[in-house]
Amino acid sequence: MASRNQNKPPPRTPLNKSSGVDDMPLDKRRKVGTGRMIGPAITGRGRQAFAVVNNRQHIGMNAGDLGGTEGSECGAVEFTKEEVEALLNEKIKGKRFDLKGKMEQMNDHIKKLKLCIKWFQEVEEGHVQEEEKLRNTLESSERKCTETELAMKNKEEELNAIITELKVNNASLQENLAKEESEKLDAIECHRREKEARAAAEKLQASLREELEKSEQEKSSANQRVTSLNDMYKRLQEYNTSLQQYNSKLQTELASANESLKRVEMEKTAIVGNLTNLRSHYNLLQDQLTSSRASQDEALKQKEALGKEVGCLRGELQNLREDRDKQLTHVQALTAEIVKYKESTGKSVAELDSLTIKSNALEDTCSSQREQIRILQHQLDAANEKLKITDLSALETRAMFEEKKRVICELQDRLADAELQNIEGEKLRKKLHNTILELKGNIRVFCRVRPLLPEDGAGTERAVISYPTSMESLGRGIDLIQSAGQKYPFTFDQVFTHDASQQDVFIEISQLVQSALDGYKVCIFAYGQTGSGKTYTMMGRPEAPEQKGLIPRSLEQIFQTSQSLSAQGWKYKMQASMLEIYNETIRDLLSVNRSGGLDMTRVDNGGVGKQYAIKHDSNGNTHVSDLTIVDVCSIKEVSSLLQQAAQSRSVGKTQMNEQSSRSHFVFTLRISGVNESTEQQVQGVLNLIDLAGSERLSRSGATGDRLKETQAINKSLSCLSDVIFALAKKDDHVPFRNSKLTYLLQPCLGGDSKTLMFVNISPDPSSVGESLCSLRFAARVNSCEIGIPRRQTTLRASDSRLSYG
Ligand code: ADP
Ligand code: MG
Repeated sequence: MASRNQNKPPPRTPLNKSSGVDDMPLDKRRKVGTGRMIGPAITGRGRQAFAVVNNRQHIGMNAGDLGGTEGSECGAVEFTKEEVEALLNEKIKGKRFDLKGKMEQMNDHIKKLKLCIKWFQEVEEGHVQEEEKLRNTLESSERKCTETELAMKNKEEELNAIITELKVNNASLQENLAKEESEKLDAIECHRREKEARAAAEKLQASLREELEKSEQEKSSANQRVTSLNDMYKRLQEYNTSLQQYNSKLQTELASANESLKRVEMEKTAIVGNLTNLRSHYNLLQDQLTSSRASQDEALKQKEALGKEVGCLRGELQNLREDRDKQLTHVQALTAEIVKYKESTGKSVAELDSLTIKSNALEDTCSSQREQIRILQHQLDAANEKLKITDLSALETRAMFEEKKRVICELQDRLADAELQNIEGEKLRKKLHNTILELKGNIRVFCRVRPLLPEDGAGTERAVISYPTSMESLGRGIDLIQSAGQKYPFTFDQVFTHDASQQDVFIEISQLVQSALDGYKVCIFAYGQTGSGKTYTMMGRPEAPEQKGLIPRSLEQIFQTSQSLSAQGWKYKMQASMLEIYNETIRDLLSVNRSGGLDMTRVDNGGVGKQYAIKHDSNGNTHVSDLTIVDVCSIKEVSSLLQQAAQSRSVGKTQMNEQSSRSHFVFTLRISGVNESTEQQVQGVLNLIDLAGSERLSRSGATGDRLKETQAINKSLSCLSDVIFALAKKDDHVPFRNSKLTYLLQPCLGGDSKTLMFVNISPDPSSVGESLCSLRFAARVNSCEIGIPRRQTTLRASDSRLSYG
């Protein structure tokens, strides 16, 4: 109890009572606050407070003793809920009639109740204040809240604005970036251009430097000139000063002249005076003049008479002068003669001496000649004798000559007959020759085996090719032996063994070449793998005459035969063209625009901007646009063309052959002949074709561009065989257009042409596979027969029977 009392607040003064809620002692307010916070019923403190109430009797008594201090006492009393309830439920105990006790109890209870009510009122008051406070704080916090909300909203709006701004910024930045990037590209381009420009500028600089040097030299010379000019300038200045002096002198002179002028004017006035005097004098003189004129007329008459006299005298004088001149010339001539005579007399003395000597000598010769004349006279007599005899024999000879002449005439007649017969015979020969070729078949296949070469390598000791010796296939058969010992026999129109010479081969095709001159379209192909001897067969080795190939030999034959046929009235015109088909593109080998055959990058159009379109006209003639066609008249011209073409040919490298041709080479000779005497015309074509290597892909080990090349070659070769087989089968559609080669040769492969194919074989054992393919292909071609060849001839005269008799 003692400690509790210590915590009591000091009793309130009346002044304290009148103050408001805010004047409540601090620790009381705290009590109310804690009570509210902790909850009403269960605090230990509440129990303590109840205990205080329960001891109220004692306190109350004390209070009653003190008197009037209840209010402040009550302020410290607190009630719990249970205590309040207990207070309300309290019943008055005691004896029924003990009213006094009961009254006391009642008073007590009332006091307690009063205390409780007071406490309640205080508590309520506190609560109301608290509530008010809380409301205030709530309101202020609400206000704050709305304020912050507003602020937040503003902030948000601001942020949104910033965001949109940033977005715009971002877009513009992206645009800028794109711009910058394009600018960067531009700048790079600029940089490159600038580099070029710089290079150009450097060149310019060099040239400018040179110019600078030149101009410096010029400058030095100019400087020299300047110094000389300066000298001149000084001199001129001197001259100028002298001129100025001269000028001053002149001015002084001018002054003196002015003075003299004045003087002259004075004189003039004097003269004017004189003039008047003179005028009077003049009148006098005029009178005198008239009188003197009369006397002058008289004098004139006299003068005329005298003039006539003078004329007569002049004529006489002239005559005299002429006479004198004549006399003078005569005298001159005479003096000249005198001089001549003087000279000649000197000379003639000397001449006389020599002449006497000469005459003596002449007399000597004269006598000797007289002697000779006598001898000759004798000889002449003898000759006359002989002449008489010779005359007799001459008569005899003349008779013989006449007889001989007659014989010659007879013979000439017979020769003319024979020539006629010869022409007829030639016609017959052509016909027969053609028949022979027809009988042999229009497409023929020759096989040629090249000799083993040192570079053929290992395994060459085992022979892979043999030739059957039986009668029926002698010279026509060939057997290929594979490593397993398997034997593949083939027969062709002709088989040339490794030791056949170029001449041997040519003899067999010379008839075909003759056909071209006779007006046929002829194709000769060389087929085979790379290194099998195609180019050797077609072109040969130009450096060795006996190794010339078919092309030069054919041309030689054509030129020779056309010359010998000119005796029969045939006139031939030859036109050559050479082209190459590389990767299905035509290249002109005779074009002067070509930069050389090895230029693979210009393969696409061969020449610059040329198309080389192939067209066939209705007469079966082929035209290739932009292709160079050269008129040739001699074998020399053709061989230089062949050389040019050989240099232009494109060659590629494969494992097979370093210089192997990867293109088809087509030599075309157009022959047009006219016979003046028979009015016959022929138009033949000779195509000589060196095909590209026929090897299959795996063997050449080609890749990349070479692979493409090889595929193009294989495709065009298979097109060629397709065309040949379609022609053999007499198909309605022949696929000429599938490759450039077959389309180019279309008129020469069709019905009215003659075709020969060489299949070239390498005896190298490593080539057996390829050889077998080549031989199989050739055998299939050999079994074909293409139509009946037709000669392209026209007759300018109407009767066609004339040509074949
Ligand atoms: P291809 O044109 O088929 O690729 P080549 O004609 O270039 O082959 O021949 C390859 C090599 O063989 C060349 O050196 C050539 O001189 C040589 N050759 C080919 N055939 C013969 C032959 N009949 N006689 C001598 N040498 C030949
Ligand atoms: Mg070749």
